[in-house]
Amino acid sequence: MTEGNTQHWQALGRRHHLPPFSDYKALNAKGSRIITRAEGVYLWDSAGNRILDGMAGLWCVNVGYGREELVQAAARQMRELPYYNLFFQTAHPPVLELAEAIAEIAPAGMTHVFFTGSGSESNDTVLRMVRHYWAVKGQPQKQVIIGRWNGYHGSTVAGASLGGMKAMHGQGGLPIPGIEHIDQPYWYGEGGDEDPEAFGVRMAEQLEQKILQVGVEKVAAFIAEPIQGAGGVIIPPDSYWPKIHEILARYDILFIADEVICGFGRTGEWFGSDYYGSAPDLMPIAKGLTSGYVPMGGVIVRDEVAAVLNEGGEFFHGFTYSGHPVAAAVALENLRILKREGIIDRVRTHTAPYLQRRWRELADHPLVGEARGLGMLGALELVKDKRTRTRFSGIELGMRCREHCLDNGLVMRAVGDTLIISPPLVISEAQIDELVSKARLCLDLTAGEVE
Ligand code: PMP
Repeated sequence: MTEGNTQHWQALGRRHHLPPFSDYKALNAKGSRIITRAEGVYLWDSAGNRILDGMAGLWCVNVGYGREELVQAAARQMRELPYYNLFFQTAHPPVLELAEAIAEIAPAGMTHVFFTGSGSESNDTVLRMVRHYWAVKGQPQKQVIIGRWNGYHGSTVAGASLGGMKAMHGQGGLPIPGIEHIDQPYWYGEGGDEDPEAFGVRMAEQLEQKILQVGVEKVAAFIAEPIQGAGGVIIPPDSYWPKIHEILARYDILFIADEVICGFGRTGEWFGSDYYGSAPDLMPIAKGLTSGYVPMGGVIVRDEVAAVLNEGGEFFHGFTYSGHPVAAAVALENLRILKREGIIDRVRTHTAPYLQRRWRELADHPLVGEARGLGMLGALELVKDKRTRTRFSGIELGMRCREHCLDNGLVMRAVGDTLIISPPLVISEAQIDELVSKARLCLDLTAGEVE
């Protein structure tokens, strides 16, 4: 691969491409890094550099790159039936077999699936489905959905509204009406001197306060990620989910656990809700469902909710690519790989404990205020003063460190001054060692610039 190619592709990007979540002027001044191929947990760029993908793409390549079984599943399905819709009282084998396979691994009592093309579409579906559900139940005034500040549920109008990213709300007049937000259980960032468990309870109690403020007769649902991903791998204190469960049991509202990141093994269980012992009514899924090889999402629905929808006449909602046969065939094969190779069990019993032990060693670095993680997720909080948790001002330290990582063969993502990882679930212990030592090198390089 030659330099010339890189410049050619970068020029095409400048001339024709508007990539997602990008500052176009800044990106065009610099040029994109061109990723040309991948295998296992590694990416290669057009200059021939090998990069350890500490983010599994965008939290999705759970079984790793280069899986010939998935290629074959897609090719077989493309030859047999590349496309057909599910609108005309029609269905096809892959979508039905996939729905059954998901019902088998989902939490008890969740045996129905609505398919979409992405996580955002799944959350748009959820918004319409819960409002429709309450209308069918004769309570059409139950419309309000409560989300959390700094939660992420996608980039469509409903997804971004349910999410609590203020920068996203600032563009395009979001959130749409009927959506409220409560604070996040981000102890390191917002807990100050409070005991973490007391903080967790206090943040959970905001849900009850919000329900009472809005009026329970108007509240349709609460939506949350089991662990906030895009917000910065925010792992709630142990007291948080039990308190939320207690509040949910007291009021007649639906619970939506957004499993787009936590689903399909990220925590060492099939779903984040399994890890936390939650019993959601709806679970948006995507990403790890197909390990990102083709786009697909869905919503797993509790049987009681499905029974109400059953009585509701036509649900006027769906997508051309709902349950796309090629995506469904790939998803089925991906679930088979996860099972056949015991990948999630290995995460739970071996690689996640190992990653978490090694990752926490980084807490001794002068820039690292906290090194936390759970399952195959990790975060580092970069600070100037560990005792007071004061951040550096006027320099984008997280971005700088992220750049050093890329230059030294590691993908870590920066959310402000929080660095995060979410590697493929198949990463080995030796590759975890490589990840941690590269992370340390990049922290050193970053520290060298701010001294
Ligand atoms: N929900 C969560 C929890 C996510 O992390 C994401 C994507 N990062 C989405 C929804 C949106 O998914 P998509 O980008 O596939 O629309």
